[in-house]
Amino acid sequence: MYSKLDEYTVRKLSNIVGENNVILEENRLIDYSHDEFSLDDIAHKPEAVVKPVSADEISEIVKIASKERIPIVVRGGATGLCGGCVPSYGGIVISTERLNKILEIDETNLMATLQAGVTLKDFYSALRMRKLFFPPHPGEESATIGGVIGTNAGGARAVKYGTIRNFLRGIEVVLADGKIIRPGGKIIKDSTGYSLLHLFAGSEGTLGIITAATFSIMPEPESMITLLIPYQSTEDALGVVPFILKQPTRPLAIEFITREVISISENYCGKHWPSMSGEIFLMVMIDGNKDDIEKYCEKIASICLDYGALDVFVADSTQKQEEILHIRSMVYEALKTSTIEILDVVMPPSQMASHITFVKKLSLSHNVWLPTYGHAGDGNLHTHIMKVNLERKEISQWREKYKQLREEIILDAIHRGGKISGEHGIGLVKKEYLEKCLGNEYISVLKKIKSTLDPLSILNPGKIFDP
Ligand SMILES: Cc1cc2nc3c(=O)[nH]c(=O)nc-3n(C[C@H](O)[C@H](O)[C@H](O)COP(=O)(O)OP(=O)(O)OC[C@H]3O[C@@H](n4cnc5c(N)ncnc54)[C@H](O)[C@@H]3O)c2cc1C
Repeated sequence: MYSKLDEYTVRKLSNIVGENNVILEENRLIDYSHDEFSLDDIAHKPEAVVKPVSADEISEIVKIASKERIPIVVRGGATGLCGGCVPSYGGIVISTERLNKILEIDETNLMATLQAGVTLKDFYSALRMRKLFFPPHPGEESATIGGVIGTNAGGARAVKYGTIRNFLRGIEVVLADGKIIRPGGKIIKDSTGYSLLHLFAGSEGTLGIITAATFSIMPEPESMITLLIPYQSTEDALGVVPFILKQPTRPLAIEFITREVISISENYCGKHWPSMSGEIFLMVMIDGNKDDIEKYCEKIASICLDYGALDVFVADSTQKQEEILHIRSMVYEALKTSTIEILDVVMPPSQMASHITFVKKLSLSHNVWLPTYGHAGDGNLHTHIMKVNLERKEISQWREKYKQLREEIILDAIHRGGKISGEHGIGLVKKEYLEKCLGNEYISVLKKIKSTLDPLSILNPGKIFDP
């Protein structure tokens, strides 16, 4: 179906990006064969990795790939959790690591323009120096601008501000034939034709290669407070969330996490979680004007105590808040060595408690550890399917059991009016459930869009659906 790279094509790639920016050695290609998804069986080496510095270079590379019908996979920080940047059909990996310039921070229009390979870490720190703020915060700061747009990443702060898509104003994209277009711009409103901007967000590198983006940014909030609210039961903890959301001020984040998982993360990072009571915690982050948020915290505390909270711990100093956030952020790393997969189903928030009860029953009946936590304010839950207990079985048996468990969890979320992915994307590993989630007719529209924009199916083939 696809051509292999020959010496002549490799020479042409070297002429575009320079010999030093082409990787061909087998041992170095291995580094580009996977992302953060744990199972090696999805790993696949590219035939070459190229590291361009501009949209023009990428356009030249894509023109060659299109002429020869060679697959192209664009790779950012490779922090994805579903095999999105794995080059399953070989071909060329375009690494955006040299597209790492912050092009402009426009304080008049409150917009930032960045190349696609800029990491979130560099973006946040450039903004912090100017007392500016970019609310979306997907948990891993080595993720890149192209990657977070490619997956329409979310994170904890989506409750108040939404996902990456809500802040995206403009992009520069190289299409499958090498042409460059610039949907959107440094504008807030746009009713000028179909929104290709929002089509590319969440397209996982299957429709075009994003080379730069413009985002809205905000002034840094004057103040921030984090509340830790322990509960004895999941139902009580999640039951209070609608009452918090009905208040006139919306929290930045409402996270839901179990004591079991927090203890593991505490041990892993050697830090201390300040609240010792209860089995479940709500972690509520509030930003805004100092006086307003203090009043608002009192209101939330009283609502929570009325609805079964055991206590309310207020973290108002930056240090305390950073410590709590650090323990919460390290949960993934703390569980990682035993995690087979971390799911990210999303559902109407009112369905979360019963879905968690369903997962708990599954865990008991199959004797498999399925720690579950997530973004309580927006219905997005993370269940880790853990190797513990499964590992004791024969390899073929645990693979079977793992598949069965993920299927049951995913289907339960779909039956509750939910979707397979709230923020990580479909990539390689979730596409088998796409039809159950979206239905045939919806998928056929998606496939028509794909074949219009990428008729030879050279852009990240095998992701979202089969080529
Ligand atoms: C510890 C940890 C915590 C995480 N927490 C969160 C979280 O809270 N919320 C969340 O949403 N995600 C989270 N993630 C997942 C991950 O960080 C996001 O999916 C992130 O958006 C991926 O960015 P990346 O640069 O690493 O992309 P990659 O993994 O390199 O690629 C992801 C996808 O985007 C495509 N892509 C990359 N660059 C471009 C480009 N320039 N143009 C077009 N497509 C492109 C790729 O082809 C691929 O399909 C977490 C991951 C880890 C490891």
